[in-house]
Amino acid sequence: MYPKTFDDLIYEFQKLPGVGAKTAERYAFTVLGWSDDEISELAETLVNLKKKVKKCTRCGNLTEDELCEYCKNTNRNQNIICVVQNPKDISVIESMQQYNGVYHVLDGLINTQKGVLPDQLNIKTLLNRVNEKTEEVILALDPTVEGETTSLYICKLLEGKCKVSRLAHGIPVGSHLDYTDAMTLLKAFEGRKSS
Ligand SMILES: [Zn+2]
Repeated sequence: MYPKTFDDLIYEFQKLPGVGAKTAERYAFTVLGWSDDEISELAETLVNLKKKVKKCTRCGNLTEDELCEYCKNTNRNQNIICVVQNPKDISVIESMQQYNGVYHVLDGLINTQKGVLPDQLNIKTLLNRVNEKTEEVILALDPTVEGETTSLYICKLLEGKCKVSRLAHGIPVGSHLDYTDAMTLLKAFEGRKSS
């Protein structure tokens, strides 16, 4: 019904989470109404995405450089490491404007049912980072079965190596960190307990 290129664009938009056929069609019409410059800008950004955005070699956060903005920042306490599931969680924690340490992004959680094993996560690099200078490792993972399993696994690995703490309860069980509001998260941070 539509020209092939237009249909192709609808197809591409439908790959995005939460975008059904109707929404994809609406997006395609919107883009069709854009100027050539606007479309070129979008195309260029998409092409650059994979070329420029990579993972920080130290913590796994997204960056366009060797190290991310937190690992590079000498004003942040490099000896307090907050472990999160993905880069999205960092922005939630940053929104509290209270945490001044650095991060470590696991890139997932242990999930044996889905075949996600510790080896597939960014855990080895965490072990390599922890040394005698490390003051604390804060596990800020989702209060779900997968989050708990992963927290316990990391706790065991770091046992006797440094102080390990976990966020206090207050974050609703089964919820995800990125849906938690800053106030709830702040309380969970302040009340964190040593493991
Ligand atoms: Zn980093």
